[in-house]
Amino acid sequence: MKAAPGTDARAWQTNFVPLELFNTLSGKVEPVYASDGANVRMYCCGPTVYDYGHIGNFRTFLHVDALRRVLAMLGHSVRHVMNVTDVDDKIIRNAGAAGQPIDVYTKKFTDAFFEDSDALGVERPEAIAMATENIDGMVALIERLAAQDIAYKAEGGSWYFRIAKFPEYGKLSKKDFEGIEDGARVDVDEYDKDAARDFALWKATRPGETGWDTPLGAGRPGWHIECSAMAMKYLGDSFDLHAGGEDLMFPHHENEIAQSESATHQPFARHWFHVRFLLVEGRKMSKSDGNFYTLRDLLLKGYRASAIRFLLLSVPYRHQLNFTFDGLTESTNAIDRLRTFHTRVRDGKWAEGTDPALALAIHEGDLAYTHALCSDLNTAEARAAIFDVLRAVNTAADKGTLLRAEAEATLTLLAKFDSVFAVLEDRDAELTRAALAWAQREDREADASLVATLSLSDEDIDKLVAARTLAKKQRNFAKADALRQELLDKGIVLEDSKDGVRWKRK
Ligand code: AMP
Ligand code: ZN
Repeated sequence: MKAAPGTDARAWQTNFVPLELFNTLSGKVEPVYASDGANVRMYCCGPTVYDYGHIGNFRTFLHVDALRRVLAMLGHSVRHVMNVTDVDDKIIRNAGAAGQPIDVYTKKFTDAFFEDSDALGVERPEAIAMATENIDGMVALIERLAAQDIAYKAEGGSWYFRIAKFPEYGKLSKKDFEGIEDGARVDVDEYDKDAARDFALWKATRPGETGWDTPLGAGRPGWHIECSAMAMKYLGDSFDLHAGGEDLMFPHHENEIAQSESATHQPFARHWFHVRFLLVEGRKMSKSDGNFYTLRDLLLKGYRASAIRFLLLSVPYRHQLNFTFDGLTESTNAIDRLRTFHTRVRDGKWAEGTDPALALAIHEGDLAYTHALCSDLNTAEARAAIFDVLRAVNTAADKGTLLRAEAEATLTLLAKFDSVFAVLEDRDAELTRAALAWAQREDREADASLVATLSLSDEDIDKLVAARTLAKKQRNFAKADALRQELLDKGIVLEDSKDGVRWKRK
């Protein structure tokens, strides 16, 4: 049964529009579908939890989130798996420097990653696989490769993948590795981008390092084997789609394919989805250049989580996104317009009836929105289609010609929009408050005016606003102005409108 428009955010579901995406493997735009006829089975490489996630990481996770939400919007059932890399060279190094066991060290950053994901409205995958809880599966996969002499143990006790045994090596990244040097090896997690080398499957533990005692010897898994083993454990030998940032194409994803297909002789993932890297103010983000931002850094500067989500999503995933503070301000204003519009249409009293011309404009907006998302996830055009509807409906409302049928159609379309973009609900002040509480615990600096703003509760603000309204009524304009200024100093902006005074935090 269909729910009433606006009550079930996914009430418009339809199975007829295909979502088409660029597939790195085939080099073509192709439909995404559930090859088992039930679920779209997708795997996304998750975070390496050695630090807080930065906005580049979240650009990738947000587009994967948009992808799963669009699939759901189109009526697909999704089985999405993500790993968490909670053991690797950097983690071992950083945990050692912090004097902590690796599980204590990684738990803090794993928790922070999911807090940040929640703040950004990233839906949780159906399964989350921790590397350290899946060591047996990785060992079993290496043993399978060893049985075919594709995995070999080198002096020092580490195991490697013999890439000369996988002639298709390079098929994803389209690199030509002719004349691969058999036996040339690499075992660090920070790879040479162009070289083809036998890569580590299992790294022998060195004194003082974390390791597992296994039939392969004492050691820890290489990063690539982690994703092969976990993807196949949760999704089967062959599945529909594999996602990650563009840097993972080579060698990580190339190596995942080599390991998995050598073991199973089946195609691993059919469709490969890669998100282009984000730049900040035109440059590669880097700590030493001072243009490196985590979500928490931005929240503590007073930017809203919803605006960050909207900005990171507004540029389609295959285009370069240049993140700027002007862009963030634009995104904040766009969200304000959308929220004000949504409230206006929802709460207004609209006369019964319908206006065919406006009904058609809304319907066309809906088609353009859906078509844009289905055309290689074109979030920019999808967003533009919604703003076209916003302008047309606002014009009708201003003229007093908006009627009940179109108000309802608009709310249904906004719910459809929000099932992917997820920015209408205002949780921003609450999320900023949580970031501030974290900053205080961690003794980190936050923007002073932000601290002042959030030190006032909604009740305190309501009282000050009421006092100002009373002063105005009593024609005590000096007092009214002083109260407005006091509120402004504390970061509260007042808006006088026909329906009374509204306030918002800056
Ligand atoms: P990591 O935690 O470094 O393994 O990265 C997690 C995800 O973020 C991977 O899919 C990376 O490809 C992606 N990623 C890292 N940096 C950026 C960036 N600047 N822009 C977009 N995605 C990124
Ligand atoms: Zn991976």
